[in-house]
Amino acid sequence: MALEYPYQDHPPAGTTVEVVPGVRWLTMPLGGSLTHINLYLLEDHDGFYVVDTGLGNPETAELWDEIFENELGGKPVKGVICTHMHPDHIGQAGMICDKFRCPLYMTRAEYYQAKSFSSMGFGSHHSSWLGEQFYHRYGMPSDFMEKMAAMWQARVSSKDNAAAQAMVMPTAFPSGYRRLEDGDLLTIGDHDWVVEVGSGHSPEHACLHCHSLGIMISGDQILPVITSNVSVHVTEPEANPLKVWMESHDKFLRTPERTLVLPAHNLPFHGIRERLRDLIAHHEDRMLAIEESCVEEPRTALDLLPVLFKRDLDPRQKMMALGEAIAHCHLLMHRNRIERRLDEDGRYRFVSVDPDLARRAHPGQHDAPDDQPMVV
Ligand SMILES: [Zn+2]
Repeated sequence: MALEYPYQDHPPAGTTVEVVPGVRWLTMPLGGSLTHINLYLLEDHDGFYVVDTGLGNPETAELWDEIFENELGGKPVKGVICTHMHPDHIGQAGMICDKFRCPLYMTRAEYYQAKSFSSMGFGSHHSSWLGEQFYHRYGMPSDFMEKMAAMWQARVSSKDNAAAQAMVMPTAFPSGYRRLEDGDLLTIGDHDWVVEVGSGHSPEHACLHCHSLGIMISGDQILPVITSNVSVHVTEPEANPLKVWMESHDKFLRTPERTLVLPAHNLPFHGIRERLRDLIAHHEDRMLAIEESCVEEPRTALDLLPVLFKRDLDPRQKMMALGEAIAHCHLLMHRNRIERRLDEDGRYRFVSVDPDLARRAHPGQHDAPDDQPMVV
């Protein structure tokens, strides 16, 4: 069964579309190749809950003012729910919580990671010795790392690029929150929403699932077109995010087939299981392609980028692509399919070790490499 999209277009900025009574959909602009983030409003008897908030820039704040003015029927916002800690999701959480003096709802891992990034800034760790060692070990040339450090510095100090600034430093973030946990029930209006936690794209990503409406708000955990970024980062160099990403996909396969999924990017869709199966197959295919390319000679993670991505990548894309390549390698190591050795030049090189690989391999028959790594 192919995915079905009940809507052809996103709602115009500053307006909302009623998905079903009590659930409204709106969008906020994003820079770059992804033009929108989808946000949702859940109507309670005496106010609304906002699900995700957009980037922390003035343009998004102005659009929120239009929404508050024209789309809430005079009701206040009662709470802000953020699915996870990325800047396009939490950027206006502080603004909205302050304006309505309402609580922020997040899982604990997402809240504290957002909090640490809002004080440290995204990317500042690249220039630490840990960052240098991490990128060196996985194959990045050192002059590349110097250029990246300079680029981050320029982004942080740039005053006239509000969007870039927002990506680097989320605006004032609430100083406290209410904790969401897997299995929690939020009763909003006449409906119960179950918190269903996934991981891999971010540590403790909350989806909201309403069985009575047959709707799941999936954040970046389940997207219909693009593949969410699943990366190993400097902050946890031995992490295995693809393992929990795949486990989360297995978990969400239990979602009823006819559920309407409201994702944070692309359009709402039916066909959740089809999509999850595709994504599982996609990552399995990528891992097999990596194994095949580590047979003849050991490879660094950087050497493996052309296996995963077809385009010449700009420096920032290259960093993200590397994080994804490492994530695939770490899951392969966990499965005893490849081994990693630290060579005298300080680089990790991966080598395939599964005696059964020759039987499983099908070189030349893999999915086409992706265009570029996704920011979300
Ligand atoms: Zn995200």
